[in-house]
Amino acid sequence: MRYIILSDIHGNLEALTAVLERAAELKPDGYICLGDIVGYGASPEEVVERVRRLNPIAVLGNHDSAVLNEREAFTFNRQARDGVSWTRAHISEESRQYLKSLPLSRRLDSVFCVHASPSKPEEWTYLLSAAATVEHFAAFEEQVCLIGHSHCPLIVKMTEYGPSELKGPTEWFTPDGRYIINVGSVGQPRDGDPRAAFGLLDLNDGVVTLLRAKYDTAAARRRIISAGLPATLGDRLLDGS
Ligand code: ZN
Repeated sequence: MRYIILSDIHGNLEALTAVLERAAELKPDGYICLGDIVGYGASPEEVVERVRRLNPIAVLGNHDSAVLNEREAFTFNRQARDGVSWTRAHISEESRQYLKSLPLSRRLDSVFCVHASPSKPEEWTYLLSAAATVEHFAAFEEQVCLIGHSHCPLIVKMTEYGPSELKGPTEWFTPDGRYIINVGSVGQPRDGDPRAAFGLLDLNDGVVTLLRAKYDTAAARRRIISAGLPATLGDRLLDGS
């Protein structure tokens, strides 16, 4: 089976459209969505609809959760909180119910899927480096754990000698290794590359590939601003910051 991995789309329809065009060319067997479908971007309803149509193996993100439950936004910064409140007012009951149906984690053959961290998904911990992942490998049994949340691509291989960060873009799984993989964010990359980030997981060959798709960041920014969302949410799309 070959899966397209999507994470942190954040209501960015322009980015998702570009990614799905590239993804279709790769003819995947299915899609995995690692949460934060909404929040920040100006098209939450359209994005939820398109994601639902993919029938993905999907998990809940912290922004999805905050749209459902106001108290969850308590720890967010001002812009994120404004984005969540705006989103709450701009999605249908049907989309809300879809977000509500998403679990915190899912298992799929040899893969564990979670938005933030495998050990305590509900605490929304950021795994930003190989060192930070060490204690989390004990929290799943599968060979591979897919995460999102940080909006920065990261591939960590754990062997008996400890963790190491692999640079990609293509990495083959070896029997001596277990992996925690973040393919980055579709709708709000934060690694200095404004192109939409996604991934291809090939379970037949045991390989993951980090991919990028160029899209019209200026158009996504314009719509964020005209929707009345904080301008910084649009500005950061231009340089992937
Ligand atoms: Zn996110």
